[in-house]
Amino acid sequence: MHRDSVISIDMGGTKVLGCVVNSKERIIASVKKPTDPTVSRKKYVHQLAEVVNELIEEVHINKKKIKAVCLGVPGLLNPYSGVIGLAPNLGLKNFNIKKSLEAEIPFPVLIENDVNLGALGVKSFGVGKKATNMLAVFVGTGIGGGLIIDGKLYRGSNYVAGEIGHMLVEKNGPKCGCGRKGCFEAVASRTAIVNNIIKDVKSGKRSTLSKLIKNKERIRSRSLLNAVKKKDKVVCKRIKEGCEVIGGVLASISNLLNLDMIVLGGGMIEALDFYMLPLIKKSFSEHVLNDSAKVLKIVASKLGDDAAIFGGIALAEEFLGVKL
Ligand SMILES: [Zn+2]
Repeated sequence: MHRDSVISIDMGGTKVLGCVVNSKERIIASVKKPTDPTVSRKKYVHQLAEVVNELIEEVHINKKKIKAVCLGVPGLLNPYSGVIGLAPNLGLKNFNIKKSLEAEIPFPVLIENDVNLGALGVKSFGVGKKATNMLAVFVGTGIGGGLIIDGKLYRGSNYVAGEIGHMLVEKNGPKCGCGRKGCFEAVASRTAIVNNIIKDVKSGKRSTLSKLIKNKERIRSRSLLNAVKKKDKVVCKRIKEGCEVIGGVLASISNLLNLDMIVLGGGMIEALDFYMLPLIKKSFSEHVLNDSAKVLKIVASKLGDDAAIFGGIALAEEFLGVKL
């Protein structure tokens, strides 16, 4: 007999990950499915409903035990109305996904920004359990942030809080996906660091990644890890520069909010925490006011992709007043 659970769904641009999860049994079952975001909204919602139905069939769980379906959305949204304002990677704009999906399945649907869910997951089930004022930062293709203030997710005045990836760090710096210049993620995300490495290699510098770059292959965190292990000078220098910027931004945020924990996660940190964390901490302590960081700890998240999945439990507990 399974306990009361939620179905957490992480909505990606090309695939969705759905899990049946509760705080005691943890992840009971999971399904990964490719999705096509170019199909109509109706078909897209139907794809999500199929994931829900497959999961229920797989675990033979009584439907009454499923308290909610929680969607982690890569975009801007209103968690109270269930409307996605804009999710560029999903091709969705001004769409009440809560209403549409509830028409297909017999469960309440809750939605939250995927990075906020990641922060909730870290706070409720990861290294952030004891934190009161916490920032979770995920470094990968971009840089996302989720804030916990006084033990609760801080959403801001219209649910857009935590967008640290677009803090200005370099006037007239590299162009950002948001259309502006010099944003944090345009300077220090994996994408930005890799772009700098490619520039170096094209200008004639030698790197263990030269072959990959020549073949126009995508450079993933794992390739960066291998290069760091080989003490690749170009790669190490560019990652170090990124860490200096990350440490500086975290110091500014700490000065503003006087946090007790900063949790770092995302693909790049997961692969390179042993190398990046000391560099980030060094830059952080050079830039932070001592008193504002007196009780602060900077740690790596160990939850990986599961952070947002566990966040679904916390979201259901917050919105439905249930205990899962
Ligand atoms: Zn930006």
